[in-house]
Amino acid sequence: MPDILKGKKILVTSGPTREYIDPVRYLSNASSGKQGAAIADALVKYGADVTVVSGPAEVVYPTGAKIIRVESAQEMLDACLQSLPVDIAVCAAAVCDWRPKVISVHKIKKQDEVDEMTLTVIKNPDILAMLSQHPQRPKLVIGFAAETENLIENARKKLLEKQCDWIVANNVATEVFGRDTNTVHIITKDGVDRWPTLSKQEIGVRLTQRIGKLI
Ligand code: C5P
Repeated sequence: MPDILKGKKILVTSGPTREYIDPVRYLSNASSGKQGAAIADALVKYGADVTVVSGPAEVVYPTGAKIIRVESAQEMLDACLQSLPVDIAVCAAAVCDWRPKVISVHKIKKQDEVDEMTLTVIKNPDILAMLSQHPQRPKLVIGFAAETENLIENARKKLLEKQCDWIVANNVATEVFGRDTNTVHIITKDGVDRWPTLSKQEIGVRLTQRIGKLI
């Protein structure tokens, strides 16, 4: 494997985040971390110095990477900011957009007379946007977009709004979470690169090679 990324510091976010409601309940999503792990794996194989900031996921990350385990989006952001400066950031995590405004210290009890409850949520920080707009901005910032409609148009909008360099866009109308294959398009300000359906491992390798060409 060519050491095309030797000496490059690369940050990868991966997996879901977990936003606690009380000590035993949380909001989260079905992200497996498989795509993030596959990307980290390829980056390590191509010689990069990789730090993975991962939410709770069962997936196995490469032994050659530094793994920082977090739970919430806020913890993920803190770990990412502490990892700066890096040359490249790949934000593959499925970060919860919202978190409960209040985390109950004690388990919320079921009350027989209460049939309805309201949970107030507040917006989480957008890690991809914050890294893209940071004074120590990595030279290349890559985000992901999972869309069910207008894939390219929405991904392009995301690229501009968050100010990242590439968006790896996938159509999640057909289920992606937990699967071993993925169909993605790489969207940059210069155009769209359509990739066929590939294993998540192969997507990791191709993305790494594309990064290698640019660096
Ligand atoms: O806006 P949306 O959640 O669709 O954007 C997805 C991209 O933004 C992914 O790269 C994801 O890792 C990143 N993201 C983030 N922090 C958030 C929400 C999304 O880094 N709070």
